[in-house]
Amino acid sequence: MKDKHEDERRPQDHGDANNPAAPRSTRRQFLKGLTTGTVAIGALTQAGCAPAIPPLKTRGATATTTVCPFCGVGCGQVVSTRAGKVIHIEGDPGHPISEGTLCSKGAAGIQVVNNSRRLQKVLYRKPNGVKWEEKSWDWAFERIAARVKETRDKTFKTTVDGRVVNRTEAIACLGGSALDNEEAYPLAKLMRALGLVYLEHQARL
Ligand code: SF4
Repeated sequence: MKDKHEDERRPQDHGDANNPAAPRSTRRQFLKGLTTGTVAIGALTQAGCAPAIPPLKTRGATATTTVCPFCGVGCGQVVSTRAGKVIHIEGDPGHPISEGTLCSKGAAGIQVVNNSRRLQKVLYRKPNGVKWEEKSWDWAFERIAARVKETRDKTFKTTVDGRVVNRTEAIACLGGSALDNEEAYPLAKLMRALGLVYLEHQARL
């Protein structure tokens, strides 16, 4: 009796001419075997070879929104902290300007915070000195406060040409890109309170 799939056989399926005893298969049998193999591979993938999904590194961290301190675009960032340490910084998708995007500088913002090459000690060089000396923060704060007061007391003007000005033109304040909004606001308030009129900031495009 004729095999019902006999008509689907290609000429080359009719055995090996050099080995008549070699097993023969139809195209349908071949495809069936292929499907079975695919299912087996799929089952294997689900059973033990599925890609591992690592846990989010920000899981359980505190998320705080802020503004990238690098330039005047002012992209939004989400800063994740755990135990008081910044562990991750990424774009804030809810920010109206950047909508979650950051340029390469903003995306690498965590390196501003956690960086072993960041200067963490006070270095002082005397006037006309050639060497840097390491000083304590207390020493630096005391000295800055004393010098600001001394300069302000010497140069403060209450009136100019009969008009009240209450200012000193002997001290200037220069902000940097690493200052964020939260730092720049009280800094500007303090400088205005001291009577400074020369306030500048280089973080602009
Ligand atoms: S440095 Fe980049 S991420 Fe930061 S505010 Fe400017 S454009 Fe945005």
